[in-house]
Amino acid sequence: MLQLFIPLGFLGIVYRQIKYALADMDLVFKLLAQVPEISDTPTAPALQLTHSSVRFEHVHFYYQPERVILHDLSFTIADGERVAVVGHSGAGKSTLARLLFRFYDVNGGQILIDNQDIRSVTQHSLRAAIGIVPQDTVLFNDSIFYNIAYGRPAASRAEIEHAAELAHIREFIESLPQHWNTVVGERGLKLSGGEKQRVAIARAILKQPRILVFDEATSSLDSKTEQAIAQTLNEIAAHHSTLTIAHRLSTIIDADQIIVMEQGRMIEHGTHRTLLDAGGCYAAMWELQQREHEQTSLPA
Ligand code: ATP
Repeated sequence: MLQLFIPLGFLGIVYRQIKYALADMDLVFKLLAQVPEISDTPTAPALQLTHSSVRFEHVHFYYQPERVILHDLSFTIADGERVAVVGHSGAGKSTLARLLFRFYDVNGGQILIDNQDIRSVTQHSLRAAIGIVPQDTVLFNDSIFYNIAYGRPAASRAEIEHAAELAHIREFIESLPQHWNTVVGERGLKLSGGEKQRVAIARAILKQPRILVFDEATSSLDSKTEQAIAQTLNEIAAHHSTLTIAHRLSTIIDADQIIVMEQGRMIEHGTHRTLLDAGGCYAAMWELQQREHEQTSLPA
């Protein structure tokens, strides 16, 4: 078992880094037997999913009391809806995902999934319902097959291959000399940022969660790869309720709802079109990113 070979001190460091960065939270929870700060009540029932709707209701949150990170934040992701959150660095976007996954409990308000407060249900059932495509994917020093299968170890070979296909990484894998047996990770083949994200997407597909969280990479992907990844995510998002933490507005123009955050508050929300028409903060961010894009695509 993997657990037996990873020193606990190392796990502690990884846990802290991952907790901060919203990397492979799912994986870390499985590696660690428990998270000290969060516990189930002894009689907590499993989460009952009916529509997979998510509601943040007057959420108030701080990591340290002297610095409030989220102020009275409310929004709903209806069943099957795609909601994107944008805002400057440090606005509190990734914190939303950490709270949804119950890395931390809210200090005020509540987070509901299908009308159940996530603090009242078992962590196991909560996390089973949520798939995460993190910014930075943790790869095991093992075959690429194992790395994808990790999303649901009981999955069949055909399901794993299908997940890789939906994530648009199957062709790449089968072009490698060792195919599915290719060892990846620190001591194996180094995958590019885009390839790693595709492994994460395949894992998430395999897990078959009802709710998906995409934490868009901040910088590691070139814009062509980024658009291709966004396209893949759009394809799989069609079947889930999704929360996308976006850094590039061009990847979320089709979202059902866009939430613009600033210093832990929702300052605007709407669709790409209505937000552009409103001519506020989102419209200014859009114009800036368009200008930057034009400049970087000019011939030297
Ligand atoms: P980015 O776009 O740069 O990823 P973000 O909007 O996702 O930023 P968050 O990661 O949610 O921002 O962080 C919001 C604020 O909370 C930041 O000021 C950050 O420094 C702070 N913060 C995040 N994690 C912790 C933590 N574990 N302890 C203390 N403060 C934290």
